[in-house]
Formats: sequence, structure tokens, C-alpha cells
Amino acid sequence: YTAKRRAAGPLLYDPSIDAASAQTLSLLSELRHAVDHGELRLFLQPKLALANGSVVGAETLVRWQHPLRGMVPPMQFIPFAEQTGFIRNLTVWIFEEAARHWTRLQSEGITLTLSVNLSTRDLLDQELPQKFALMLARHCVPATAFCLEITESAIMDDPQRALLTLDRLHAQGFSLSIDDFGTGYSSLAYLKRLPVDELKIDKSFVMGMENDQDDRKIVRSTIDLAHNLGLSVVAEGVENAQIWDLLRELNCDHAQGYHMGRPMPASDFRAWAEQWDARQAALQAPGTRGAAVA
Ligand code: C2E
Ligand code: MG
Ligand code: MG
Ligand code: MG
Repeated sequence: YTAKRRAAGPLLYDPSIDAASAQTLSLLSELRHAVDHGELRLFLQPKLALANGSVVGAETLVRWQHPLRGMVPPMQFIPFAEQTGFIRNLTVWIFEEAARHWTRLQSEGITLTLSVNLSTRDLLDQELPQKFALMLARHCVPATAFCLEITESAIMDDPQRALLTLDRLHAQGFSLSIDDFGTGYSSLAYLKRLPVDELKIDKSFVMGMENDQDDRKIVRSTIDLAHNLGLSVVAEGVENAQIWDLLRELNCDHAQGYHMGRPMPASDFRAWAEQWDARQAALQAPGTRGAAVA
């Protein structure tokens, strides 16, 4: 296994390499092959309500099950797909796969909102709202089943055009969320104009907030800002019970993190949710503290 890994090289993609280089072209054809031959997987990470511990949604996170390199994380091919424009094909595949998962989970009695990540190129793609509409119709899934996550930097790349796309997506019924909030450089003036429903506090502020006063202040201010603007707020990077409790005290709405559930194969999600619900029920039994996590 290690030998195979070494043969494939340590880095899938070196951003310093020229766009027209042989390496870029070969990685691009590998990625095409991956989509066509089912090597991509959509993992799901649970999103929980802090008030009562219920499962409200899941974020879809893509992985590449590479025949030689093993499970390749998104940061090793999403930026590449973004730079070559191939992300448009990827996003269509991801969205369609998410629609399939939503339908399957629904038939298993699990109704939730699936959060799908969009990138800069997607926001600049004028045809994206129509592509999504076609897929929703094909799968008989409502737009309200999805939350679309976009980063501040993706929006600020071309705010006018991004706003057009976002307005159309929002009018179609999609919820919109600002991912990695606090790490970008969007202004509050833009935030006010964007048709967003949710702020997602970046994990860099959340992961150490139980020990870091400043992080805690940033998280608290972001929660207040979101609520004052009528938005809901989710914290990512909840890695322990202390952080969960702090976020509850600060009135944060939703939480995601390794402490509750790591991104998992979609086929494992139902079993995870059943276990989770059983544990919550046990914790809420008389005499125990409500909605804490084990
Ligand atoms: P993101 O959208 O901000 O996703 C959150 C990342 O944080 C995920 O990494 C997730 O596994 C990780 N994470 C979740 N909980 C915790 C925690 O408690 N502690 C820590 N340390 N990390 C946690 P992942 O899956 O490697 O994805 C990284 C990034 O790749 C995503 O950041 C997103 O920007 C991009 N990405 C992933 N899937 C997609 C996709 O389908 N489409 C697009 N356009 N981008 C994607
Ligand atoms: Mg995200
Ligand atoms: Mg994020
Ligand atoms: Mg991130």
C-alpha cells in the first residue's frame, strides 16, 4: 500500500505547475475518468440543533476513492478542478448525487436539509440555476431540501455576477449559507444585500474556543450579528463537549463537528442517526441533563 502511494507521488496537484503542462492535462483526464467510473464519493456530516440535539441536516463533502492513492481529500482536487473549470461538471455530479441521497434518506424516514458546497466558478456560471432546476425536476426533489454553501471570497470575486446567481437560486427556493464566515473579506454592506439565510462560523474560531477568550468573543459576536440580521447560525469544528455547551449558552442554532459525527459514507448515515437519537433520548430521560452529547 505504501509502495503504491509512493509510486503515485505525494502530491496530486502542485498549483505552481503551468496550466497547459502535461501533468495538468493528465490529472484532468484522471478526474474525468473518476467521475465517469464512479470513483467519487459524497460523504455526509451531520448538522445538529443545539437546543435539543435533533439532527436537522447534513453537509455533503466529496472524496475521491482513487485506485492507487486511496481516499483523496477534496483540498487535493477541488482547487485544481476550480482552476481548470472542471468544477462545473463536478458540481453537477455532486448535486445530482445529493438529490439521490436525499430521496433515499426520505424513503427511509429521515427528512433533512442537505448542504452542498459551491465554488467561485459555480457562482459565475449563469446556467447553474437552470441546471439545478432540471435536476430537481428529474429527481422530484424540492429546492427547499438544499442549503447551498458559498464562501465570502467566492462572492467577492465578482460580487455583481454572484449576486445575480444567488438571487435566482434563492428565488428558486434554495437556502443560502456563507461558509467559513469570518475568514474572508466581504463587507457588512454586502452581507446586508445578499439573500442569505445562514452564517457558518469558520472552524478556526470554534475549534479552540473553550481555551481562547478572543475566539470566544468572535464566535459570540458572529452569533449576535447573525441573529440581529435575522439569519440562523451554525458553528463548524465542534470537537468536544465543552464547545457544544459553550455554543448552547451563546444561543448558537446549529453545530457540526467531529465530536458529534465525522463525515461518513452516505450509506452509514441512517445507522448513525438512529444511534444518535437513541443516545439523545437516554440523555433526556428524567434526572439527566438535556441534549448534551456523550
Ligand atoms: P468546508 O465546506 O468548510 O467543510 C468543512 C471541512 O471541515 C470538511 O473538510 C470537514 O470534514 C471538516 N470538519 C468538520 N468537522 C470538523 C471538526 O470538528 N474538526 C476539524 N478539524 N475539521 C472538521 P473536508 O471534507 O476535507 O473539506 C474541505 C473543504 O473542501 C470544504 O470546506 C470545502 O471548501 C471543500 N469541499 C468539500 N466538498 C466539496 C464539494 O462537494 N464541492 C466544493 N465546491 N467544495 C467542496
Ligand atoms: Mg461547507
Ligand atoms: Mg466551512
Ligand atoms: Mg473551510
